[in-house]
Amino acid sequence: MRAYFGRRYMLSASHRLHSDVLSPEENRRAYGKCNNPFGHGHNYLLEVLVRGEVLPETGMVVDMVSLDKVIRSLVLNRFDHANLNTDALFVNQVPTTENLCRAVFNLLVNAVPSGRLETVRIEETENNFFECANPTEA
Ligand SMILES: [Zn+2]
Repeated sequence: MRAYFGRRYMLSASHRLHSDVLSPEENRRAYGKCNNPFGHGHNYLLEVLVRGEVLPETGMVVDMVSLDKVIRSLVLNRFDHANLNTDALFVNQVPTTENLCRAVFNLLVNAVPSGRLETVRIEETENNFFECANPTEA
């Protein structure tokens, strides 16, 4: 049986979507109003899904307190109430929610306290969400 534990976190951050390899017109076409030079903010909903065994000692897949500590130290302290464009991870890539999702996945993939990171999902708005899944079968 596969067992999963999922946890949600709120994350507020600002960004401007602009690619240096696109012309101003291409940027406007690709990103619309999200390309405006002053940026804008989102209240992201971050969902982390960990897959693992239900440990007989605790009856849990992952210790939630330890997971919260990892998420806080690696993700929330870094990105919450931040301008994503100024983060080192986004110097060479546009801070779209796709790229934010990949960045969060990469920060967490070797840091979950037990089990393995299965997916990271980020809702940007009530209509948009992005998801990164662990590519390895195990
Ligand atoms: Zn946006």
